[in-house]
Amino acid sequence: MTCELVFVGTELLLGDILNTNAQYLSKKLAEIGVNVLHQSVVGDNPERLRDVLETAFSRADLVLTTGGLGPTKDDLTKEVCAAFFEKKLVLHNESLRRMQAYFDEKGVEMPKTNEKQAWMPEDSVIFENRNGTAPGCAMERNGKRLVLLPGPPREMKAMYETGVLPYLQSMTHAVIFSKEIRTFGIGESSMAQCVGDLLDSENPTVAPYAKEGEAMLRVTAKAETKEAAERLLQPVIDEILSRLGGFVYGVDVPNLETAVVALLKEKHLTVATAESCTAGLVAKRLTDVPGASDVFGCGIVSYQNEIKEKLLGVDPATIDAQTAVCEDVAAQMARGVLRQSGADLAVAITGLAGPGKDERGRDPGLAYLALTDGKKTVTRTVHTGQTGPGCRDYNRTVFASHVLDMIRCYFA
Ligand code: ATP
Repeated sequence: MTCELVFVGTELLLGDILNTNAQYLSKKLAEIGVNVLHQSVVGDNPERLRDVLETAFSRADLVLTTGGLGPTKDDLTKEVCAAFFEKKLVLHNESLRRMQAYFDEKGVEMPKTNEKQAWMPEDSVIFENRNGTAPGCAMERNGKRLVLLPGPPREMKAMYETGVLPYLQSMTHAVIFSKEIRTFGIGESSMAQCVGDLLDSENPTVAPYAKEGEAMLRVTAKAETKEAAERLLQPVIDEILSRLGGFVYGVDVPNLETAVVALLKEKHLTVATAESCTAGLVAKRLTDVPGASDVFGCGIVSYQNEIKEKLLGVDPATIDAQTAVCEDVAAQMARGVLRQSGADLAVAITGLAGPGKDERGRDPGLAYLALTDGKKTVTRTVHTGQTGPGCRDYNRTVFASHVLDMIRCYFA
């Protein structure tokens, strides 16, 4: 089944709001094996919305829209879509009753204008809105399906989970089941090359994607039952794991920090952090994981050189000779925080997040990392290659991921 997404709202075109519905729906549809081929954004304009629908249905069997289901005059999605599918709008009494109850519960009178939201395309499947007033719906004509969802993400997500997802699954008469293989340290293209032949397989499908310095593979199988889908997935997952080896940090693990905290717990070890350019991001990410206090007791943010010297015992002569951004300073920071914290392991980072060059003319995106267990200290140099104006956030995120990855690699 091929699908397109249409996001309605002039404020999206003006850049007033970020199209987070696009990310959410694309991800959710991929999880159930629905191929999203195009996404469009269109303002609250009936002619242009009609044009977008025309184009979308010339290529796809299924179109999902968000936005424009509100009670005001400029909310036209339902009217335009119903006309496009040659459906009349009819009063849906159950939706009107629910809407009335929604206002009663809040103790306010329902504005007359809201009644418009209970007029739904004839013969459509209605999706209840548990967090707002506008119901959603799905209509069908000549084998094509059009699903309308409200714009506010809280309303849209709840409606997708409770109404649209079961509706789409009932159409496919199959269970679609995915697993995500997460890697670190290998680029998306190298990873895709490693598993290139598997990317053409049909059931399960294997799809690569990348996010903030990480590359991932989603393996999706379709079968009559979840167990049968899992049986299809397992040999492909095993094959990928054997090809990608140590780059894989987990299957269906939400992120690197979760994998690292689990490893530390399993080994009964604690870790401490000393951070300069990431200013606590590593500590933050570790402690985002519930139960992190079992493995993390101390993080020092040593941004200025005097703090590196005073709290971590970094030798000023090293800084004078090599600046604070060098391998030796990272190693001394790691040993310093290990001493201060009494942890089993310590990691440290010093680098250039950007956007400017440093006093030696070095580009941002460079960081030196160190990990010590008190006996041995290992270091890593990272070049993200990101030097542009918006690089600071990206560099810090990728640097922090490398620090977490060093902890993971310690156990490899
Ligand atoms: P309402 O009943 O609130 O008018 P609606 O279905 O008509 O809902 P819109 O009026 O298009 O939806 O959008 C309402 C709000 O929902 C927007 O101001 C915005 O905050 C949010 N929103 C709409 N579309 C998106 C989107 N694609 N991504 C993220 N947020 C969105």
